[in-house]
Amino acid sequence: MKTVLVIGGGITGLSAMFELHKWKKTNQSNVRLILAEASSELGGKIRTVKEGGFVMEAGADSIVARKANAMSFIEELGLDDEVVYNAAGRSFIYTEGGLKQIPADAVFGIPTSIESLAKTTLISAEGKVEALKDFYTKNDSFTKNDSIGDFLEYFFGKELVEKQIAPVLSGVYSGQLSDLTIASTLPYLLDYKKEYGSIIKGFEANKKKFQSGSGKKFISFRSGLGKLIDAYEEKLENAEILKNTMVSKIEKVEERYQVTFQNREIIEADFIVMSIPNTEAEKLFIDQELGKGFSQLKNSSLISIYVGFDLPNSVLPEDGTGFITADSKNILCNACTWTSRKWEHTSASKNLLVRLFYKSSLPSFGELSKMNEEELLQVALTDIGKSLGITADPISKEITKWTDSMPNYLISHPHSVEELEKKFVASYPGIMLAGCSYYGVGIPDCIENGAKVAGEIIHSL
Ligand code: FAD
Repeated sequence: MKTVLVIGGGITGLSAMFELHKWKKTNQSNVRLILAEASSELGGKIRTVKEGGFVMEAGADSIVARKANAMSFIEELGLDDEVVYNAAGRSFIYTEGGLKQIPADAVFGIPTSIESLAKTTLISAEGKVEALKDFYTKNDSFTKNDSIGDFLEYFFGKELVEKQIAPVLSGVYSGQLSDLTIASTLPYLLDYKKEYGSIIKGFEANKKKFQSGSGKKFISFRSGLGKLIDAYEEKLENAEILKNTMVSKIEKVEERYQVTFQNREIIEADFIVMSIPNTEAEKLFIDQELGKGFSQLKNSSLISIYVGFDLPNSVLPEDGTGFITADSKNILCNACTWTSRKWEHTSASKNLLVRLFYKSSLPSFGELSKMNEEELLQVALTDIGKSLGITADPISKEITKWTDSMPNYLISHPHSVEELEKKFVASYPGIMLAGCSYYGVGIPDCIENGAKVAGEIIHSL
């Protein structure tokens, strides 16, 4: 009898196990399916916390609707009736001590028409004139492996990139624009430059693709994103789900693998899905070559702070759903989502709930990361006071430190992953890397990757 072990019960591991489980059932196979999860709960970076009448997400809060709707997992898990969409609203940038609106038709802060550029209040007249370079500067040298920051600055100038595009784009792709490639962010901008001679003209010609009509671009579930995790768990009745089970060592013994759990129990497996962060995967092998490979992958940190108030949503700027900070002289947070405005299901009483993000790129992050919850709450309350003018006492909070656990896809990332894959194929056949550390951080990417890895194992079973 063959054994497949999935290590890590985040969304990637669950998706892999779901596919393996379906196959086992359909084919009446006697394959043994085991999922080992270190923590007492499944979900990893998806964890819903309910408190004080609020629904808060310790990690991920939503799924890109366009991607989710093109996949089958919602239907397969019977979640159609649970889906909720974000409320469309205006986004702001906090700059020069106040909130300024991001032009409504901008995509990741990039103007999509000449009017959008003309109307923005975020940059100076000189900055706007400089950005017109996009219309008359050809792309002679940039390829998809160049930095998206250099590319945008070359055609739009420094001011537009620094004040309007970088705050949005760095937030979405978690990194400095100089460290991110065109390929891993907005590869279609190269096509626009080639086809239309201008990025703005490219957006104008492809307007329809970016108009979501209602602006409802993200989904979650009525009782929070944790519903997705519960739905997967409920479907896995023929798999052994071992919680509080941390894998501490993997050794190759002839054609199989000997896997040691932290409680010293040992099992043997024929195939292993490594759906755990690279920092954890690295610890499981006594192998210098693998160690070198894993160390090429980089992660950053983030602190998420929710604060709930006994105040109505109407204290917020009208129609607004949050802001991104462009200059951190006055406030510390990188961004603030007005959660109860953006997601109706998060606050049944319609009381105000906001979420602040603090990233490790902040000069003060070292200090923040050492603070306890009470100190962090005070930092958040100061930022809320300065940006929104709210000085009321909070009624709820949820603070999560994500230390070294946000993957950064640097320019070298694809090459580093490829090298690591080669090492596994050569020395550890049957062990598959999976998940956000390697193949995409978005939940749909993780689900797709889990299913793909499961498919490869099924092929060999
Ligand atoms: P993880 O969720 O990290 O799961 C790995 C699991 O492995 C964990 O449960 C862990 O306990 C377990 N584990 C670790 N070591 C061991 C071991 N030795 N033995 C056994 N088990 C082990 N994505 C979106 O699409 N939308 C969002 O809105 C969004 N927002 C985010 C906000 C934050 C704050 C964070 C942190 C991430 C966000 N993401 C978002 C990204 C997304 O949540 C993750 O990329 C995805 O959930 C990762 O899933 P995973 O299964 O690959 O890894």
